[in-house]
Amino acid sequence: MDLTRYFLEFTQKDSCGKCTFCRIGTFHLLKMLEKITEGQGREEDLKSLARLSEDIKTGSLCGLGKTAPNPVLTTLRYFKDDYEAHVKEKRCPGMVCRPLIAFYIDLEKCARGCDACVGCCPVEAVFTTSTRKKGIDQSLCVKCGECVVACPPEYDAVRRVSPPALAPIIERPAQPVK
Ligand code: SF4
Ligand code: SF4
Repeated sequence: MDLTRYFLEFTQKDSCGKCTFCRIGTFHLLKMLEKITEGQGREEDLKSLARLSEDIKTGSLCGLGKTAPNPVLTTLRYFKDDYEAHVKEKRCPGMVCRPLIAFYIDLEKCARGCDACVGCCPVEAVFTTSTRKKGIDQSLCVKCGECVVACPPEYDAVRRVSPPALAPIIERPAQPVK
């Protein structure tokens, strides 16, 4: 889904604007994909995506417009499950679409005294629990994934889940734990 959105973004910007279907059609195709990757998609959007893609192919004069919807049509054909997971379950199977994922720390695996994830977090979302392990404040986390990289492989304690509701809730202590 995310890769399809990326390709559409590229072709939409590259459209010269001469053909109405290419100029406006790719814009709406991109908006629909963005809506789906943000978890706002509906089942009927999948039919609209396919219909609009065919219209753009038919109504465009040059190769750019005629091929711009191909990523949508190909992924709809071969990765329909992925689209359905996004619109029906608000879940991203590839764990890529940020609004549909969450990060949390597996307390069984987190090592006391290792603060690698704390320093790497750009928004100070990682906090220390009363047992001196770490938790993630979901209201601050921007889902950059830096803590996954920072966590030493021998602990491998940071988990990524989709949908976000699967992340266990770990309360941030009222006072910072020293
Ligand atoms: S995913 Fe990014 S923002 Fe969220 S806790 Fe990890 S480092 Fe911080
Ligand atoms: S980097 Fe990993 S092991 Fe270290 S404190 Fe963070 S979650 Fe725990």
